[in-house]
Amino acid sequence: MERMKFLKSMTAAPGIPGFERQVQEVLLDYLDGCAAVSRDRLGSLIFRKVGDENGPKVMLPGHMDEIGFMVNLVTDEGYLRFVPLGGWWDQVLLGQRVRIQANDRWVTGVIGSKPPHILKDEERSKVVKQDAMFIDIGARNRDHVEQELGIKPGAPVFPVSEFEKMADPKMILAKAWDDRAGCAAFAEVIRALQNSDHPNVVYGVGTVQEEVGLRGAQTSAQMIEPDVCVALDVGIAGDMPGVTAEESPLKMGKGPVMYLADRSVIAHPGLRELVIDTARGENIDLQFSTLMGGGTDAGSVHLVGAGVPSLTLGVAVRYVHSHQGIMHLDDYEGLVKLLTAVVRTLDWDIVKELHK
Ligand SMILES: [Zn+2]
Repeated sequence: MERMKFLKSMTAAPGIPGFERQVQEVLLDYLDGCAAVSRDRLGSLIFRKVGDENGPKVMLPGHMDEIGFMVNLVTDEGYLRFVPLGGWWDQVLLGQRVRIQANDRWVTGVIGSKPPHILKDEERSKVVKQDAMFIDIGARNRDHVEQELGIKPGAPVFPVSEFEKMADPKMILAKAWDDRAGCAAFAEVIRALQNSDHPNVVYGVGTVQEEVGLRGAQTSAQMIEPDVCVALDVGIAGDMPGVTAEESPLKMGKGPVMYLADRSVIAHPGLRELVIDTARGENIDLQFSTLMGGGTDAGSVHLVGAGVPSLTLGVAVRYVHSHQGIMHLDDYEGLVKLLTAVVRTLDWDIVKELHK
């Protein structure tokens, strides 16, 4: 499958925390025949690619879930009230399209908002809180929603947006780059390793429920018991009006990103230097980030067993945790190239040094 088509399928797939099945399908299709497949009991999808059966276990987790919502109440009039699954900022919600799985089809909804014509002066300058919002699916009443369509409390609600190339065709607008970019990257690495040696066993893992607390990373790592881990996630691009370098120094098109630390993990110093050296050797520019406002799957993985040397690599994305983000294709390509090169170096000699 050509890269753009793969990225489009990955981002288009609906997959919120606890409901990642359709992302699984895209990955299974892309990696068909490339690796042995297993699952943990929460739904994380594990692709095992053997280079040296006796080599160290290298875990490459990327989370399949994107942030979304769950219906928690249907009103008499047929509107849906909802709770967030993952970290939304209320201001990006109003007027956005969503999709809900009904009995036999997808139903489109919009997060309703009062038109400005009827807003009072004091309302205009205020953020509307999420718990005051509702989803309008154009239903007649509660019976229509619950009985005819089969949409009840507990139904997952998925964001909707288009995949498009922008003015610079390397800039791609889509939903869910966080973290389909990471899932796509480990999948491309597994493909890249098909016809070459690598001194280890690679576990590419599509994890579940990262956005609600790094949960699938924990369960899948407990199954795998990895010796080393490079997690894949997105960085927060800061190259836009109103964002300072102190808030985020990351720029689009300036290379893949290494997290030096986030709220959940500190990059393992030995692994950090190994990745930096590898990037230099491959002529790949690397950007660095600290993100104390969020965690990554490495946060769960590095605490498994006696501890797993871990860090997180990714690509900078603009407008993360909204209905649409922008990713630069060069950064993604650099990430795949760097990760492939890092995996090729991880033999027992190197991994044992990391364990000291
Ligand atoms: Zn993420």
